Amino acid sequence: MPVLHNRISNEELKARMLAETTPRTTVSFYKYFKISDPQSFRDSLYLKFEALNVFGRVYIASEGINAQISVPENNFEAFRETLAQTDPELKGIRLNIAIDDNGKSFWVLRMKLRPKIVSDGIDDPAFNPSDVGRYLKAEEVNKMADDPETVFVDMRNHYEYEVGHFEHAIEVPSDTFRDQLPMALDMLQKDKDKKIVMYCTGGIRCEKASAYMKYKGFKNVFHVEGGIIEYARKAKEQNLPLKFIGKNFVFDERLGERITEDVIAHCHQCGKPCDTHTNCKNDGCHLLFIQCETCAAEYDGCCNITCREEYNLPKEEQRKLRTGRENGIKIFNKSKDHPLRKRLPEL
Ligand SMILES: [Zn+2]
Ligand SMILES: [Zn+2]
Repeated sequence: MPVLHNRISNEELKARMLAETTPRTTVSFYKYFKISDPQSFRDSLYLKFEALNVFGRVYIASEGINAQISVPENNFEAFRETLAQTDPELKGIRLNIAIDDNGKSFWVLRMKLRPKIVSDGIDDPAFNPSDVGRYLKAEEVNKMADDPETVFVDMRNHYEYEVGHFEHAIEVPSDTFRDQLPMALDMLQKDKDKKIVMYCTGGIRCEKASAYMKYKGFKNVFHVEGGIIEYARKAKEQNLPLKFIGKNFVFDERLGERITEDVIAHCHQCGKPCDTHTNCKNDGCHLLFIQCETCAAEYDGCCNITCREEYNLPKEEQRKLRTGRENGIKIFNKSKDHPLRKRLPEL
């Protein structure tokens, strides 16, 4: 029986990766397609990726594959070839290459089976996530954006929508994707005869959302190919006017990539125009919120005066305060009902 996972310590693996001299490319891809035997698909792909010295995270479910990996540059063509040979569905798949990346993001290959690649709360075996809406390229997106018979639907979280979205796009205000699906269905009933364009950051959510709307009887469902990331890249490349305004929120140290100069959000503390996300500096909080420079100075980068007080205590005392306290209370609270927002006047 071959060993289909790694048995060497994490530190050792990381040290090996850092000592590597061949450059790596960080790439992500996903695809919804029927995998009838996920376990054997996984085991055979693991061996192929391992032979190519691929690192990263791969999720496999009967509905498809989702991967964030790094590939040694000199194996890249072989990697493409491997995907194509593994399944015809993976032939010519769009590979999103990370820019501004040193390729040192992963040091081990982890391939896991999951019930779904994007959890949706749907049990019905008749739901086919690969029966997706029609893909829209940047140019087509722009045309639809000018069409009054089209509704744009944002399938991301509130904090993402808040700093940037397609013009006139509607928000589906729920904290989880599984709650968003039925909510979007309700909200769109009145627009059933219109064209529905769904989008998200990289495409994996809106693609499934478009399949869901079709499954629920909607006829004219589209989604933005490759999500906002690909739209912005292509629109800029082709000098098209940008219909996405503001910032595209991304989970790296920048917490957002500016698409247009429009600032559509407001500081959560004073209400003035601002779209800079930050995490509360208090280690016992780390709330993700929007804070302007003036407020950052006034609150020492914290979300309120209590956090500021705590943050300015000696480290040892801060630790004591945190012991036994629920550390999850405010971390990444995406809710519109967060107490910090409730205190603010309607923005
Ligand atoms: Zn402010
Ligand atoms: Zn705080």
